[in-house]
Amino acid sequence: MFTPETENDLAELAQTSKVTVMSETGIDVMRRRSDDFRTELEPLPLEVQLKAFRAQVRVAVKNNLFLVLHDRGASKEIMKVFEEFKEYPLRGIIHGFLGSVAEARQYRDKGFLISVNKRNLPAINPVLETLTLNEIVLETDSSEPAQVADTCDMVASLKRVTKAKVAEATTENLKKLLGAV
Ligand SMILES: [Zn+2]
Repeated sequence: MFTPETENDLAELAQTSKVTVMSETGIDVMRRRSDDFRTELEPLPLEVQLKAFRAQVRVAVKNNLFLVLHDRGASKEIMKVFEEFKEYPLRGIIHGFLGSVAEARQYRDKGFLISVNKRNLPAINPVLETLTLNEIVLETDSSEPAQVADTCDMVASLKRVTKAKVAEATTENLKKLLGAV
């Protein structure tokens, strides 16, 4: 359970060590598989998720951390929470993005990079077409780091640029995010 003590512990960690990112946080309203993949589980109640998410965003903005955000069917809820923190400069990465073009734009306008991996890429081709190389990063989201190279290939052919160009731009995007810390 995420309690006020959990928030205190997180805040303490953020202040006393070399922490740069709150990863990963977010909201997931989809049904999911149990750890042994045998049963489908209901998502955690939204109020429970919101409470933890709000607290994590609070710790992040107060300690100048960027967010790695998990959004499954919850961009409206996430935007509402962002609205509560609108006096702070939010920034981060939407990992494994699976939303719409409009949602990607909303996140981009809030200062977030859209993260692409081998699995979400086929589903978000239309989204990627609307984004520039300065607005995305590449991730594995897998235990196989080499998949980043495949993802780079796929983005390069979609954008009709060289792999080197994709690698350079996305690395630069991440460096900027880290540099702002
Ligand atoms: Zn995730």
